[in-house]
Amino acid sequence: MDEVKQIDLSGKRVLTEGHALPYDYLVIALGAKSGFFGRNDWEPFTLGLKTLDDAITLRRRVLEAFERAEACDDPAAIASLLSIVIVGGGPTGVEIAGSLAELSRVVFAGDFRRIDPSKTKVYLIEAGPDVLATFPQDLRQYTRERLETMGVTVKTGCRVEELGKGYVVAAGQRIEAETIIWAAGVEASSVTRTLAEVPLDNCGRIKVLPDLSLPGHREVFAAGDIVNLTDAEGKRVPGVSPAAMQMGTHIARILNDGDRDRPGYVYWDKGSMATIGRSAAVADFAGMRFRGLIAWFMWLFVHLIFLVGMRNRVTVFFHWIWSYLTWKRGARIIIRAEE
Ligand SMILES: Cc1cc2nc3c(=O)[nH]c(=O)nc-3n(C[C@H](O)[C@H](O)[C@H](O)COP(=O)(O)OP(=O)(O)OC[C@H]3O[C@@H](n4cnc5c(N)ncnc54)[C@H](O)[C@@H]3O)c2cc1C
Repeated sequence: MDEVKQIDLSGKRVLTEGHALPYDYLVIALGAKSGFFGRNDWEPFTLGLKTLDDAITLRRRVLEAFERAEACDDPAAIASLLSIVIVGGGPTGVEIAGSLAELSRVVFAGDFRRIDPSKTKVYLIEAGPDVLATFPQDLRQYTRERLETMGVTVKTGCRVEELGKGYVVAAGQRIEAETIIWAAGVEASSVTRTLAEVPLDNCGRIKVLPDLSLPGHREVFAAGDIVNLTDAEGKRVPGVSPAAMQMGTHIARILNDGDRDRPGYVYWDKGSMATIGRSAAVADFAGMRFRGLIAWFMWLFVHLIFLVGMRNRVTVFFHWIWSYLTWKRGARIIIRAEE
């Protein structure tokens, strides 16, 4: 598939490598990538989790770190290989921290002869006062306690000051860690910087009009993570998939209605969920709060029904049951993502 390089609003063309595609109407939905708050020099030393390739690379790097530790004789190097830092205590950071703590302490137990994987240190570093900042206080507290029970060192109010190959300095403390995962910030696709005279926020997201069109360009819309929007009822629209899907539907309706009526988009908040680990999650639906096993079942159910096709749902469902009962995560073959 062609990668969009530039959007020429005045010429009504989308430019890809060697092609110029003319349009009558355009919907920009290029999503977001990891953002480093102006410290792009940190990026090469961190692992992100935005794409399938990122996920495969992350899996490989974690597995390789354990294999290298097993073959290593230097205690300091082993400690660094068995240390994982996750920067960012939002849902992504919490979910990764929980699963890596379980992976090292339970799934890997008995897999190595020389190292003890249960000695793995997993740090979750968050600049704000709490993890899962958008959740109610009791669910934030539960999440923190649960992570700590699982062996995660949760450091809140702790801003990363420096970061390089194999180390992080946060709140004055240096942590040696081979694996550094960045789940702290997002930035819009760099294509938005090619949009002449369109207002962008600090993260490069497009400040759209209430109907999701671009100021001065009624024929161009933007949707999803690439958008910075306070909706027609004054609610901040978060970067989550229900918002992206609702925006898509909203734009489709405008175009279907012959572009006459242009109501403002209103975000329907369906609630928030985050899984912490086995049998533990938090969920908040319009003030109704759930935690623990019940929230975990809700999380599983929601993520199952949104899979594409019944075959996938059934396959994943049985796979989950098998994993739950046996604690097995499948073959740990180390594979490379497409470079
Ligand atoms: C690890 C992780 C977990 C998440 N978990 C949840 C969750 O549990 N619940 C939830 O609601 N949300 C979750 N989200 C957020 C959710 O994935 C996003 O809000 C949603 O995908 C946004 O949809 P979008 O269409 O704007 O962008 P995307 O889904 O990112 O789609 C953008 C597409 O544009 C393509 N693209 C980018 N640049 C170019 C280019 N120059 N040319 C051509 N194509 C391009 C990308 O490859 C991508 O396919 C999660 C996000 C991450 C990273």
